[in-house]
Amino acid sequence: MREFALIDLLTASLPTHGSVVVGAGDDCAVLDLGLADRWVLFKTDAVVEGVHFTAATEPRRIGHKALARCASDLAAMGGLPTVALVTVGLPIGFAPTDVQEVYAGLNALARRLGVGIAGGETSASPDGLWLSVALLGTVAKDRCVLRSGGRPGDALFVTGTLGGSRRGKHLDFEPRVVEGRWLAERFPLHAMIDLSDGLAGDLRHVLKASGVGAELDANAIPISEAARATASGPSPEEAALRAALTDGEDFELLFSLATEDVEPLLTAWPTKFPHLSLSHVGVLTHEPGLRLRDDRGVRPLELDGYAHFQ
Ligand SMILES: [Mg+2]
Repeated sequence: MREFALIDLLTASLPTHGSVVVGAGDDCAVLDLGLADRWVLFKTDAVVEGVHFTAATEPRRIGHKALARCASDLAAMGGLPTVALVTVGLPIGFAPTDVQEVYAGLNALARRLGVGIAGGETSASPDGLWLSVALLGTVAKDRCVLRSGGRPGDALFVTGTLGGSRRGKHLDFEPRVVEGRWLAERFPLHAMIDLSDGLAGDLRHVLKASGVGAELDANAIPISEAARATASGPSPEEAALRAALTDGEDFELLFSLATEDVEPLLTAWPTKFPHLSLSHVGVLTHEPGLRLRDDRGVRPLELDGYAHFQ
């Protein structure tokens, strides 16, 4: 069973609560816990040896990644992370100095983000190291950005560059918390998501939640140096584009907003974030489905990143 089918099955009959504004199916749970102007954001995520890192990964990077994944999801709602709980599963014989290094990576990112680590739990683990982080944050009620607000005609943007994150970025990425809050506070964003499953995969989540389609501009996709360096085969350029569309764990932000806001955004962005690119990669459409436009025309974009002529 594919991961998303399993999630659909598990989330079909969850008990709910009156405080839940948005439950499973967006980047974070959104809760109304009685704060006057703000909603609470709640997210949990885990990193597991053999899945998200290997036995050879430096412990400090593992701690960093565990918190960064959660923070990226809060960023995708325009949120401000505040406090985390950390549970760690330790294999027998795991060196105490390595545990300290895991926490050093976690703590360094927490300090940069202004996040407190308010407790947690340790457990023995029979098979490899794992960490689970639960992160709380808040967002102004009128600035919370969901996946479901995309509208036909919206311009689509991504931060940074995409593809090839397995060459290191998946362990060392900076969650776009500052950027997400700045965007949500200054611009009427319609939809936003962080890129964990690749641009094409995560855009499909937005399309499904918003009930729209999209057309991506192949020439505007910001292909990372890592994606270009690993591209091979008869057409390296095409392979690099496919990596940018389908490689996971970029942890950049994908968002949509009305076309009238495009020019003010493109004017303000480079002044505020001179070291992070922002790319206008496509448009949301009435017509359902995901398509790719390149020099040869417009074609459906398949799940594997191929755009086949029909
Ligand atoms: Mg996410």
